Amino acid sequence: MVVLEAGPRLGGKILTGSLAGTRLELGPDAFLARVPFGVQLCRELGLDQELVSPAAGHAYLWSRGRLRRLPEGLVLGVPSDLGALARSGAVRPAALARAALDLVLPATRVEGDRSVGEIVSARFGRGLQEWLVDPLVGGIHAGRSELLSAAATAPQLDAAARSGRSLLRALRAQAADARAAAAQATGGAGAAASPVFLTHPAGLSHVVDTLAGRLAAAGAGLRTGTAVTGLSRSGAGWQLSLGDGTALDADAVILAVPAPAAAALLGPVCPEAAASLGRIEHSSVAVVSLAYRAEDVPGPLDGTGFLVPRPQGRLMTAATWMTAKWPHVSAPGQVFIRASAGRHRDERAMNMSDAEVVGGLHAELAEAMGLRRPPQESLVTRWVGAFPQYAVGHLERVDRIEAAVAGLPGLAVAGGAYRGVGIPACISSGRKAADQVAAQLPALSS
Ligand SMILES: Cc1cc2nc3c(=O)[nH]c(=O)nc-3n(C[C@H](O)[C@H](O)[C@H](O)COP(=O)(O)OP(=O)(O)OC[C@H]3O[C@@H](n4cnc5c(N)ncnc54)[C@H](O)[C@@H]3O)c2cc1C
Repeated sequence: MVVLEAGPRLGGKILTGSLAGTRLELGPDAFLARVPFGVQLCRELGLDQELVSPAAGHAYLWSRGRLRRLPEGLVLGVPSDLGALARSGAVRPAALARAALDLVLPATRVEGDRSVGEIVSARFGRGLQEWLVDPLVGGIHAGRSELLSAAATAPQLDAAARSGRSLLRALRAQAADARAAAAQATGGAGAAASPVFLTHPAGLSHVVDTLAGRLAAAGAGLRTGTAVTGLSRSGAGWQLSLGDGTALDADAVILAVPAPAAAALLGPVCPEAAASLGRIEHSSVAVVSLAYRAEDVPGPLDGTGFLVPRPQGRLMTAATWMTAKWPHVSAPGQVFIRASAGRHRDERAMNMSDAEVVGGLHAELAEAMGLRRPPQESLVTRWVGAFPQYAVGHLERVDRIEAAVAGLPGLAVAGGAYRGVGIPACISSGRKAADQVAAQLPALSS
């Protein structure tokens, strides 16, 4: 087996770096524990006992002039308890009153896929959609909730919307079912407080490096700095053209690359899949890591950070209080904050210099949190075209891509472009692709 990686290192969007002598994540900072494939891979690598969960659980919303603690019971930003939402002050009273109409409005017709924003605004009104749901769902995908497919990005919400009249009641019923299932699984002892997110304190790149070590020890070739520039049929197998002008023959190929790269490679051999992949839009994000003197940060930072709703008109989309969220991201006298800018169809940060992005985000952080002086150190990481946008109808598009590729024995696709952008979903996608081509190998080599 050979892994061909265009970049200078393995890991793709998983990238642990360092700021002011402290290791911290420049890409994803954790993975969902509930979707089992991340934990399972770490177990296979002997790393699962070392995983840690965030020290703080709750988050804030920068809303109506100040940071407001988000209430418990949000499902992707959709409230299951309007009383708790009212007490949080996160949305205006008028938006709350409109949201309560969900309980009495006639059923909304649901046919086919719809956007998350459409579902939420139909039941709760635009106030809730724009101030609560958009920052949460939109934040995960660097997207816009009014364009993101509910089936692909919020299946729980999609199911609730189809199950009855009131979305609030359907979500409450889902939560009650989940609690009952958890209680049953723990023999009636109630659901233990299991972590939602996990990470490795040495950095997620450590997980990648450990996996790479295992693969190398098992005889795999790991070739970084090797872009695949072409893919063609070669007998019963495949030929890969490489950036250095050489070629490589393979019985089977898994294209675990972003959609634009997959589209380019599939163009000559599977034009139908290539055309569908080429239609997936992408958004870009600047992740800015900042190291502040502790005395310049009024505390306490009692949460994971805060989200910034789009109507606030800010550059920043979210801020993570890294030091509060992850105790291992700490150094004496310093506070690490990570701010993000950029989302689908908002490329402002991409068109600014590093100094402008840092200055703009620091000014907004100072306004929201009362920071006293600029950061001591900063690091800008630009993730250009990194977030595939799961538009309405995305899953049907993926069905078409996979069906077209399945017509070519020994070829499979995997990664965040298809059925989930989260790390566990990407791992699952890779495993499925590997199983698929492994099952075909005996036939291919005979
Ligand atoms: C800033 C940021 C924060 C995120 N936060 C989280 C989080 O907290 N939790 C979470 O679960 N997920 C998070 N995600 C999402 C998650 O990181 C990604 O969806 C996932 O890592 C994508 O994995 P992938 O293998 O599909 O693609 P990638 O990681 O992009 O890997 C694809 C690889 O293919 C290589 N490549 C491309 N073209 C070629 C070619 N022609 N030849 C050879 N190699 C090629 C690329 O260099 C790259 O290394 C985040 C993403 C970003 C950008």
